[in-house]
Amino acid sequence: AVALYIVPTPIGNLGDISSRAIDVLNNVKLIACEDTRHSGKLLSHFGIETRKTALHDHNERDRADWIIQKLSNGEPVALISDAGTPLISDPGYHLVSAVRAAGYEVTPLPGPCAAITALSASGLPSDRFTFEGFLPSKEKGRFDKLTALKEDPRTLIFYESPHRIVQSLESFLAALGEDRQIVMGREITKTFETFLSGTVAEVLEIVKNDPNQQRGEIVLMCHGHRSAKDDEGIPTEVVNTLKLLVEELP
Ligand code: SAM
Repeated sequence: AVALYIVPTPIGNLGDISSRAIDVLNNVKLIACEDTRHSGKLLSHFGIETRKTALHDHNERDRADWIIQKLSNGEPVALISDAGTPLISDPGYHLVSAVRAAGYEVTPLPGPCAAITALSASGLPSDRFTFEGFLPSKEKGRFDKLTALKEDPRTLIFYESPHRIVQSLESFLAALGEDRQIVMGREITKTFETFLSGTVAEVLEIVKNDPNQQRGEIVLMCHGHRSAKDDEGIPTEVVNTLKLLVEELP
């Protein structure tokens, strides 16, 4: 069918591409890629020879008109990003809203997304969460953002760049205090996949002292604000100690 297909691609492990994703990428007339060179490698790995075009933050609005033209010619188009689900801290929002506004179908395929994948293994509450994308690069902006989220009861999910991870954890410490429970998922689905969890102070200590923890791709998650009544009046430290003891039980 003539539609714009939103196609997630692997976040590391190539085995995570879906067979439907391969079918769609083979059958559309055009693949809009964030970076045609980067995606070229992935597509040729799967033997996909469909024509590619670049769609990134700087040309997205112009390209949208051209892609709508393709759809009006009866040519289906797919959108992919460098990794994971397009539009999730990636280009595509302007394209999707323009295509919908022009009256064409947008068909999403489910697939890899670092935020959801990380959350599913974090051990943090997953019934309610908020995805916050990348934190501001400047310290003040980061601190203000985290302070605004301080009382949010939902699990918080952030994308983070490896060269800023120590500064970001320091901002967490300053804004949320050293006892907030956090989980850092790194290199998920890849060879050096690691999950670190503990209080902000504990995780900061580990990451600071181990340059290997400052490499690769990172999702930072943190427990939402706990009100006093959450654990029926039992202080957080006691609950954490009990949880540790429970883990140690046979
Ligand atoms: N659209 C992508 C998705 O659906 O996850 C995210 C794109 S965003 C530009 C890239 C960020 O996602 C990285 O800086 C990192 O925070 C996170 N990320 C991507 N792949 C990851 C992986 N394998 N492990 C941990 N984090 C990852």
